Amino acid sequence: MKVAKDKVVAIDYTLTVQGDVVDTTAGGEPLEYLHGHGNIITGLENALAGLSKGDSINVQVEPEDGYGEYDEDGTEVHPRSEFPQEVEVGSMFVGETEDGDEVMLTVVEVDDENVTVDRNHPLAGEVLSFDVTVRDVRDASPEELDHGHVHGPDGHHH
Ligand code: ZN
Repeated sequence: MKVAKDKVVAIDYTLTVQGDVVDTTAGGEPLEYLHGHGNIITGLENALAGLSKGDSINVQVEPEDGYGEYDEDGTEVHPRSEFPQEVEVGSMFVGETEDGDEVMLTVVEVDDENVTVDRNHPLAGEVLSFDVTVRDVRDASPEELDHGHVHGPDGHHH
């Protein structure tokens, strides 16, 4: 069975950015996702199509197919009073886009008056290097297809 739309795929992966390991399944369970439903990064999903159980690949994902280009206008200044007392550089908050989507905001500057946050993803603008091994490919259940995501071995998790 090959990786294709509506298959549930289990992968082991290590994500490296500029030589540093940022995320890995090593030492843990493989990641399971429903192929063709945008559950994982576009560039990675496209590269996995057509592979079979046991196949390994290295994929370089450009920012446009990863976490987006870095937006120089992505920072905003807010009054200090809108934030908790303990706010510091590196703190993260959930904000909203104009469309109402959730976005992670990272604090990049704090002074007595203001807090500057950056709405770029921490990996925006980075080339992502994935080392991936396909561990399993199976058909999705009707319920998984209906929901557009994978349900674990114990059934429903949400
Ligand atoms: Zn579900």
